[in-house]
Amino acid sequence: MKRLSIILAVAILSLSFFQESAAKSPLIGVSASENSPAAAPSTYIKSIRKAGGVPVVIPMTTDKEQLEKILATVDGILMTGGEDIDPLKYYGEEPLRAQGEIVPYRDEFDCMLIKMAVEKGLPLLGICRGEQLLNVVFGGTLYQDIPSQAKDSYVKHRQQAPSSYGTHSISIEKGSILNKVLGTERAVVNSFHHQAVKDPAPGFKVIARAADGIIEGIQMNEKVFGLQFHPEGFVSSGDDTFLPIFQYFVEKATEYQGSKK
Ligand code: MN
Repeated sequence: MKRLSIILAVAILSLSFFQESAAKSPLIGVSASENSPAAAPSTYIKSIRKAGGVPVVIPMTTDKEQLEKILATVDGILMTGGEDIDPLKYYGEEPLRAQGEIVPYRDEFDCMLIKMAVEKGLPLLGICRGEQLLNVVFGGTLYQDIPSQAKDSYVKHRQQAPSSYGTHSISIEKGSILNKVLGTERAVVNSFHHQAVKDPAPGFKVIARAADGIIEGIQMNEKVFGLQFHPEGFVSSGDDTFLPIFQYFVEKATEYQGSKK
């Protein structure tokens, strides 16, 4: 009987602990990559969930009030990958012939979302296009097309292999978010880009580079950072090598959530 009551007490305690931790899971706004219907690739959604966050897709809009309302609710912002960014409008360069697809409405939405979120102090993780936008919004520039512009680049950055498979190495800056979170100064990542950060925005630090010098990660501070590679490609297919990146981001969002009240 005594034993049973102990088991019961433990069960009740762990149940209430579980409920409490579920209630504390931060809400992560994931930028939509398609607008009708508003959707983001499931790889991002799965990775946030696996790291303990609650993902919610933010539909594209350039209505400031709509965005303010959403930003008052979420605890972190994940900017997803996608198309090229209009070089003329966002960093004052004529488009090169290698220019890919441009989606003007998405450019505008993404830039507003990044500006407003960072101003509000929200943790933000930008992946691929998301990283490039983060850089451009704060005054940095991009290689519009690595093969035709980056003279010393020789690494294949548009891999022809599954996204759960790493094809090139990166060296990671000591003391950076990536270094702290992964506990290493070298990793093998996937690569699906022909653009990259050229000049990092003022105040940003380069946190990772490929062997040819191409920038593979930047950070503004301890809670705003961007990656050129796709950690969600690994995590969503069961390889947890880069799960700590999402866990760190969710942890920052939990801290933000706690500071709101
Ligand atoms: Mn790459």
